[in-house]
Amino acid sequence: MNYNLDREGLVEALECKDPAFNKALLEDAYKVKVASIGPVVYLRGLIEISNICSKNCLYCGIRRDIHCPRYELTDEQVLQAAAMAAQRRFGSVVIQGGERKDKAFVAKITRLVKAIKAIDTGDDPPLGITLSLGEQPREVYDEWFDAGAHRYLLRIETSNPDLYRKIHPNDDNHSYDRRLKALEDLKAAGYQAGTGAMIGMPYQTAADMADDLLFYKSFGAPMIGMGPYNPHPDTPLTHSGAQFPSDDERFMLGLKMIALLRLLMPDINIAAATALEVLNPRGRELGIMAGANVFMPNITPSEEMVKYNLYDRKTILKDCPSVGKDDNHICKNCVFPFCSMGENMREGKIVVGYGQWGDSKAALREKSLKKL
Ligand code: SF4
Repeated sequence: MNYNLDREGLVEALECKDPAFNKALLEDAYKVKVASIGPVVYLRGLIEISNICSKNCLYCGIRRDIHCPRYELTDEQVLQAAAMAAQRRFGSVVIQGGERKDKAFVAKITRLVKAIKAIDTGDDPPLGITLSLGEQPREVYDEWFDAGAHRYLLRIETSNPDLYRKIHPNDDNHSYDRRLKALEDLKAAGYQAGTGAMIGMPYQTAADMADDLLFYKSFGAPMIGMGPYNPHPDTPLTHSGAQFPSDDERFMLGLKMIALLRLLMPDINIAAATALEVLNPRGRELGIMAGANVFMPNITPSEEMVKYNLYDRKTILKDCPSVGKDDNHICKNCVFPFCSMGENMREGKIVVGYGQWGDSKAALREKSLKKL
């Protein structure tokens, strides 16, 4: 099928309720992915280092003013998780956490990035490292890059400045312009700078989502991490009573955004977000079959994982055999993430890229252009 990928065409595709069209779109995006980058799916061991955050985003379950048990992983816990990622040949890890600018935290990340790079990976390259730790001063981005991190995910959350203001407190600590500046700083510092947005949130229109896709393209993002909005029961946005699409609608929007982005940017990395799994037990697998190519097994120690509650994750954590145990072992469901993907793996539709950094073709192309 031919798709019109200008703003009008994207809006029409997002609003379309025709099951035949939606099915064809998802299938075609998978085919475009395979033609462009193959069926390979790269792994990133996700380490949620801390749920302490200096920000107060109105939709977030670990925002500064919410009452919840807080934690920060020790160096040992982080390195133990990273060593397991190396042992299982994940190829890369992501260190994600609330936004903190205090010196001790900045120094801790530098120390950990260096230590992770030194982990023995056998015949594989040292682990690739993605950071997702919010807006930071340029010199901090430089320090972490020099330590060995080479990818950074900073979600714009919405490319519409008015909507951004609606879902964030109206103060200097939550500025759309500063977020854009931080994304530019990341690029200038040398990172593969990824971004992303929520899908199907209150006040958001199909035109906003189409604009998000066009923003990713104009920014030239080599990787995108976006997922459906999932409400947390105790945030100002939820308490506002603002309406948003149903679970089924948000799930389909999440898949269609992946598919449309794959058509728009065939050779970037697109993550199959955990947020999809909240809405469907096979959510991430279906994300991959709609064009995503990055999967992030959560390797945070399970007793802390339950506290990283950006949104209500009960549905994904309820079946986890590790949650609630006090022996500090890592979530088994997430270490063996592909157990539910057996059929697609057996048929060769999903091939795991073990032991590789898995940088996107788009990022590698950009890098070789810079060298010319
Ligand atoms: S969305 Fe991120 S920056 Fe905002 S409050 Fe939550 S963890 Fe902090």
